[in-house]
Amino acid sequence: PNETSLTTPAGGPGAARGEPLVVLTDVNKHFGELHVLKDINLTVTRGEVVVVIGPSGSGKSTLCRAINRLEPIDRGTIEIDGQKLPEEGKQLAQLRADVGMVFQSFNLFAHKSILDNVTLGPIKAKGVKPSEAKDRAMALLERVGVANQAGKYPAQLSGGQQQRVAIARALAMQPKVMLFDEPTSALDPEMITEVLDVMTALARDGMTMVVVTHEMGFARKAADRVIFMDAGQIVEENSPEEFFTNPRSMRAQDFLSKLL
Ligand code: ADP
Ligand code: MG
Repeated sequence: PNETSLTTPAGGPGAARGEPLVVLTDVNKHFGELHVLKDINLTVTRGEVVVVIGPSGSGKSTLCRAINRLEPIDRGTIEIDGQKLPEEGKQLAQLRADVGMVFQSFNLFAHKSILDNVTLGPIKAKGVKPSEAKDRAMALLERVGVANQAGKYPAQLSGGQQQRVAIARALAMQPKVMLFDEPTSALDPEMITEVLDVMTALARDGMTMVVVTHEMGFARKAADRVIFMDAGQIVEENSPEEFFTNPRSMRAQDFLSKLL
């Protein structure tokens, strides 16, 4: 792969597509009385793009946050590339670095330049030399189409540009998997496409991705598999074609009918 590829090969050279990369087994999570994740079993394989859809409050964000332990779980296990996520400590920081995350709100460091936003993680957390971090950051900013904004501050960029920087920042850590939690929900309509285009390119480059989104066009085009969640459960799992044309469950049928 060339230097400007948006992804580094997940797990390094020779890592094969199709192997289990993220494995959730009987994952359960409560917030007090509320059972938000109910016996979640999910395997995401290397290079796979899984789109998670479902009504508000169904547990999609909690699932994403659980995958990189922003949210502790009550029961079950989560493995990333064969390693169980520990509860805490240095190892957790390492495993967390394997999981890139892009949120609905852009979460850039407001008082750092665009370039610094992308170089800080690699320099501080991975010990990458500043000159090398800068070269890699510029290549990533180029790929997401905002290299000419590198010296600016987040507030000087549009929402779509900021979200593309957030993607570049996550990629700079060379994650094995990227999680996107409604990355276009806070964007004005005209900016949604530019972000989805970057995500589509990333998917084509072979990045393993879990994407929570209401963008059904993206799901149809980019997803290998669609997961439908409702009330903390995975209700249905299907290819995008099957899911959109022939949803099996009543709950998915109901959800889709309200979207169309
Ligand atoms: P989704 O992303 O599908 O909209 P969430 O994962 O955000 O769903 O939330 C699932 C449920 O958990 C919702 O009922 C929500 O109100 C609740 N919830 C989420 N985060 C917390 C929290 N920190 N404390 C208590 N309840 C929460
Ligand atoms: Mg959510």
